Amino acid sequence: MPSAETPFRCGNVAIVGRPNVGKSTLINCLVEQKISITSRKPQTTRHSITGIKTTSKYQIVIVDTPGQHSDEPRAINRYMNRAARSRMFDVDIIVLVLDRLKWNPEDQLVAERAVASGKPVIVAVNKLDRLQCPDLLLPHIEELSREIKAEYVPISALQGTNVDGLEKLIVEHLPVAEALFPEDQITDRNMRFVVSEIIREKIIRQLGEELPYATTVEIESYSEQELLIHIDALIYVEREGQKRILIGEKGARLKQIGIEARRDIEKQVEKKVMLKLWVKVRSGWSDDERALQGLGYID
Ligand code: GDP
Ligand code: MG
Repeated sequence: MPSAETPFRCGNVAIVGRPNVGKSTLINCLVEQKISITSRKPQTTRHSITGIKTTSKYQIVIVDTPGQHSDEPRAINRYMNRAARSRMFDVDIIVLVLDRLKWNPEDQLVAERAVASGKPVIVAVNKLDRLQCPDLLLPHIEELSREIKAEYVPISALQGTNVDGLEKLIVEHLPVAEALFPEDQITDRNMRFVVSEIIREKIIRQLGEELPYATTVEIESYSEQELLIHIDALIYVEREGQKRILIGEKGARLKQIGIEARRDIEKQVEKKVMLKLWVKVRSGWSDDERALQGLGYID
């Protein structure tokens, strides 16, 4: 129960960092906990919210920030840069995710933008479980902190190590505010996000990492009944050839993706799931901002 001593806190958090540092894994880890599926009402708010974590004391709204690229010609990357930059100014806290001690110009760029925003920055040094020389961690953080003014937290998003510590730090920086979202709207949106991430993960497992931007998963319908959830998902690819690969011989690969995804989703929702997957070619969508708009990527 919120009281005078512990006022409710709520705010927007951007999770930024270059591709593959573990942003999605971290978001999943943050929002997966304690999600109770109570509603099938569609979220009516901005599409850019990718996860909401609500407890009795606070609500963390994680807004989507696509990967950022320092030097990419295609429209999607131009757009992503713009979106990522503008979003940073739009939030209460920025969490910058790094892959262990790796530090390259892309990290530098994102970090500088984060600090320049004037918002509190928390640097999550991720993949702690894979750290080869733990002794180097503290000196590295010390050195980095001279350049990048932030709070530093080592975590493993994959194993959940110290994600609660990160969460605590986030909460300390949240403004005192009422919840932005009522609980019954939250869970469904979270589940749509979790479901699309699960499907994406299965696609990547089946195909390797060869389709960086080629695949987008859109949850077309999510309809929850007492014992069963019907989910229709569209997988967008860029080319006919990718569609063939994804579907596989007599549909075998898509079927496998569907089976694996359904199993994971069922574990999350603790209900039976009917999952239907479609593959669609959105020809050249990476190069067409209008197509991006159609996919809901642009406000
Ligand atoms: P994003 O591009 O920043 O969203 O990164 P992802 O969340 O998709 O993660 C990229 C890869 O790093 C995936 O294969 C993850 O499983 C892996 N990964 C993420 N966090 C960790 C971690 O804490 N430890 C390890 N070992 N791998 C991780
Ligand atoms: Mg991601």
